Amino acid sequence: MKKTGVFVCHCGINIAGTVDVKKVAEELSKYPGVEHSEDYIYMCSDPGQNKIIDAVKEKQLDRVVISCCSPTLHETTFRNACKFAGINPFLCEISNIREQCSWVHSDTEKATEKAIKITKSTVERILRNEPLEPVSIPVTKRALVIGGGIAGIQSALDLANSDFEVILVERSPSIGGRMIQLSETFPTLDCSQCILTPKMVEVSKHKNIKLLTYSEVHEVSGYVGNFKVKILKKPTYVDPEKCTLCDECIKVCPIVVPNEFDLGLTGRRAIYIPFPQAIPASFTLDIQNCPGLVPIACGKCADVCEPNAINYDMQPEIIEAEVGTIITATGYDLYDKEQMAEYGYGKYPDVVDGLQFERLLSASGPTLGKILRPSDHEVPKEVVFIQCVGSRDPELHCAYCSKVCCMYTAKHAMLYKHNVPDGQAYVFYIDIRAGGKDYEEFVQRAIEEDNVLYLRGKVSKIFEENNKIKVWGVDTLSDKQIEIDADMVVLAMAIKPSKGIEELAKKLKVAVNQDGFLSEAHPKLRPLESVTSGMFFAGAAQAPKDIPEAVAQASGASAKAITILSQERLYHSPTVATINISLCSGCGMCVDVCPYDALSLEDFKAQVNEVLCEGCGTCVATCLRAAIETKNLTPLQIHEMIKASIGG
Ligand code: SF4
Ligand code: SF4
Ligand code: SF4
Repeated sequence: MKKTGVFVCHCGINIAGTVDVKKVAEELSKYPGVEHSEDYIYMCSDPGQNKIIDAVKEKQLDRVVISCCSPTLHETTFRNACKFAGINPFLCEISNIREQCSWVHSDTEKATEKAIKITKSTVERILRNEPLEPVSIPVTKRALVIGGGIAGIQSALDLANSDFEVILVERSPSIGGRMIQLSETFPTLDCSQCILTPKMVEVSKHKNIKLLTYSEVHEVSGYVGNFKVKILKKPTYVDPEKCTLCDECIKVCPIVVPNEFDLGLTGRRAIYIPFPQAIPASFTLDIQNCPGLVPIACGKCADVCEPNAINYDMQPEIIEAEVGTIITATGYDLYDKEQMAEYGYGKYPDVVDGLQFERLLSASGPTLGKILRPSDHEVPKEVVFIQCVGSRDPELHCAYCSKVCCMYTAKHAMLYKHNVPDGQAYVFYIDIRAGGKDYEEFVQRAIEEDNVLYLRGKVSKIFEENNKIKVWGVDTLSDKQIEIDADMVVLAMAIKPSKGIEELAKKLKVAVNQDGFLSEAHPKLRPLESVTSGMFFAGAAQAPKDIPEAVAQASGASAKAITILSQERLYHSPTVATINISLCSGCGMCVDVCPYDALSLEDFKAQVNEVLCEGCGTCVATCLRAAIETKNLTPLQIHEMIKASIGG
């Protein structure tokens, strides 16, 4: 005789405000198979869990139903309590009467009736549950970090300093990401390169970090604790061990293309080093722009390279590795310039974006830190900064706030004034979002000490007239039309996830949101991880964020990764698909639909990889021969649950 205990949670007034929880407990106490039924204000609290443990022991209950919130929140809590009481944890099920009932209804009578049915249906399920044991898997004690910006660097260092091996993959020729392009950082105005380069050097010298630059993740398979990755290392055609950074090759290379590091404000040669402090400190021959190596069409660089560092025969390489966890920190790009033609970007050389302005401000930039107009190298005396370019515009561009633009615009305007004290800086804004330590004070400093003129309103038109950039806008505070004859315009462009993120997300089997940023498992409780176990996120790949946030998230993601890497074995839920071989026809339909690649055909019969299977049930619904079922959610259980739900 099975003995089920039912425990109905009030969740404060979250459930009890709408559902008559006492009535639910009372009705369930009369239900066949239920030995014990009670309600309590917070079942997840310590006293609440003790009630479960005590009832199990006193009444010798052998299965438990908790009527409460979503299983994603407290299934583990209650299963652990059951384990403590001596019951197999998989003989405990959650009946969700909060998200699926009290939160979506207002009529107490009907909501109570529904809560009773939901709970009864879960009782029908638990009566047919089998005790299960988790699937045990070994852990590869190595991590992969994708992206060599500040977030990836921080994650890699935290992991490496905790004595775990790390493979750090960066697709460009050097680590450093966006931060290495910046001038000074808000709100402290410390030099971005000065604080980042020691970390870059530490990465390059760390015994636990294998750095793969000019490399991309090619293929990912496996599962938490045991991922197999293939990394494509592109040829740089320059041997970093031999290259002495003498610069002789760039003196003879005839090809000039826009320099990505300076956002096109300068040019670079086809053979180049991205910036002087690049890590690894070596040149790269950019084959896309070199006139050709097979056959060699130019070869001037090799002719002058004394240490013979240039090797035109270098080939792409696939590097295979096994890792236990993966942290994605692929950073951001700016919103497509072509989308913002109304602001004159691309049409007028003196309309630049925020990153280009960073390069002008940077001591290592094309103007050595002097603010000069790109068109004629004159000092601009009137500069207009425009915030929210492409952000917070759900109709035409991005609906979200790019988060850092208010702050970096204040910094830009402030640094411009330090550079050109007799110049005037104007900022067009929708509103100022300066949430962060010392951020509000920083914006006030720009306004009060540096006399930056903030104009609340949007810019309607930008056009060139008499060697000036006319900016038409409106100041909604004074209700005046504004017209400025600017020498330069700086656009705070919206932040987008870096190009290629969707393709990478598919390889990693992680989700992206409608804007292309990586989707976290839970926005509040699991903000650093994907629903795919073992995958973590750091930095702007997940959402726009500033440097302190990116660093904090990177350390958080590493700490999460360490919770996996520090274990000898991991345990996976055993509620997975199971195949009835005698019914399987080997059609392979289930293999095609499984979103987790957990199925394969062996000798014309379907087979489940229990570690990969997430028990989603897609295959069960697809199999025409009913050859698959999910453990503890069999067709019979579903049938009985439906019967109880409709009162049959
Ligand atoms: Fe430049 Fe290519 Fe000629 Fe070398 S071979 S100098 S990289 S164009
Ligand atoms: Fe076998 Fe069903 Fe899968 Fe077809 S769909 S291979 S019959 S389990
Ligand atoms: Fe794949 Fe879902 Fe079936 Fe598991 S239950 S094998 S994850 S389709």
